[in-house]
Amino acid sequence: MNIIVLWLLVTPLFFAFGWIAGRIDMKTVIKQAKTLPSRIFDSFDALIDNKTGVASDHIRDIIELEPQIIELQLSLGKLYRNRGENDLAIKLHNKLLNSQYLFSTEQKDQVRLELAKDFQQAGLVDRAESLLLKLVKSELYSTIAQDILLDIYQQDKNWLDAIETAKKLARSDYNYHTEVAQFNCELAQEASIKSDYAKALQHLNTALEINRKCVRANILIGEIYFAQNEYSQAIATWQLIEKQNYLYIPMIINNLFEAYINLDKTKEGLTLIKGYAKIYPNLNLAESLSNKLLNYDGIEESIDYLDHALRMQPNSKTAALLIDSYMNHNDFNDSVKNGAILIKEILIRYNEKLANYRCGRCNFKSKTFFWQCPACYEWESINPNNSEI
Ligand SMILES: [Zn+2]
Repeated sequence: MNIIVLWLLVTPLFFAFGWIAGRIDMKTVIKQAKTLPSRIFDSFDALIDNKTGVASDHIRDIIELEPQIIELQLSLGKLYRNRGENDLAIKLHNKLLNSQYLFSTEQKDQVRLELAKDFQQAGLVDRAESLLLKLVKSELYSTIAQDILLDIYQQDKNWLDAIETAKKLARSDYNYHTEVAQFNCELAQEASIKSDYAKALQHLNTALEINRKCVRANILIGEIYFAQNEYSQAIATWQLIEKQNYLYIPMIINNLFEAYINLDKTKEGLTLIKGYAKIYPNLNLAESLSNKLLNYDGIEESIDYLDHALRMQPNSKTAALLIDSYMNHNDFNDSVKNGAILIKEILIRYNEKLANYRCGRCNFKSKTFFWQCPACYEWESINPNNSEI
C-alpha cells in the first residue's frame, strides 16, 4: 500500500517537472525564433540593398548574443575583408582563434586560413605566408593554402618558391606548365639584366622543356644571341616562334629585321616579313612593315601594302599611315594637303584613346602588352597581336 501511495504522490511530480522543462525549452526556442532569424533577415536585406555596413552591424549584434555560431563569425570576417576593413577582420579572426566555442583542429585551420587572407589583403605578406606554410600540412586546407602562397610568391617576384609551389599544386586536370615556364622566363630576365647569359639560357631551356610552346623563352633566347652579336642564331630562334604561336610575330618583327641588317641580308629579311604578312593577313604588321617597304622597296610598295592591310583590318592607325604615304607620293596642292593632314591627326588622336591589348579572361584593356594580366593575374591571356580595342 505504501508503495502505491508513494507512486501516486511521485507521478504528478514527474509530470510537473516535464511540463516545466518543456516550458523552459519552448521559451528558448521562441526567443531564438524571435531574435535570431529576424536579425539575420535584416542583414540579408541590407546585403541585397548593397548596404554592407548595415549588414555587418546586424551580424555583429547577432554574434554578441550568439557567439557559438562560428559560421556567422566567419561570414562577418569575409564581409569585413570585402569592405576593406582588414583591421576588423584580423581582430575578429584572432579573437575567434581563442574562442571557447572553437573545438576541432579543422575549425581552427579554417579560421587560420581566413586570417591569412586578411593579412594578405592588408599587405602583411610575411604573416600571411607563415600561417599558410603551417596550413600546407592541413588535410582540408593544404591546396587552398598553396594556391594563396602561389599568388603571394608571384606578387613578391619570388619565382623560385613560386616554381616549387606550382609543381606541388600540379594535378591531372591542370599541370601549371604555362606558369612554371613563365616563372623560369622571369628568372632568365633577372639573370639577363645582370648579363649572366649562361644562367639565363639555363632557365630558358628549362622553360622550353616544361612548355615547348613557351614563346617568351624563344623571344628571350633570341635577344641573348642578339646581345652577343650572334645574329644568325637569333634569327633561327625567332623563326621558331611562327610554329609555336604566330600571333607573337609582331613582337619580334623589328629585332628580327635588325638582325638581318646586321648580317647584311636586308633583302632576305624583308622577304621573310612580307611572307609573314601574306600568310597571316590578320597580323598587325602595318607600321613596321610599311616603314621597311618605304625604305627598301619604295613608296608604291608601301602604299600597296597599307591599302591591302587597311582592307584586311580596317583601323585608324593604318588609315593614318596610308594618308601619310599618299601625301609623300603625290604632289597635292596646299588645300588638299592641309585637309589630309587634319584627317590624319584626327585618326591618330582617335587611335591614342584606344587600347591595343585585351585580356581574354577578364577583358582588361591596355596600351601595353603584359605576359601576366595585371588585373586577373592570368599568364598569356593577353593577345599579343596589337589591335584597336
Ligand atoms: Zn585578365
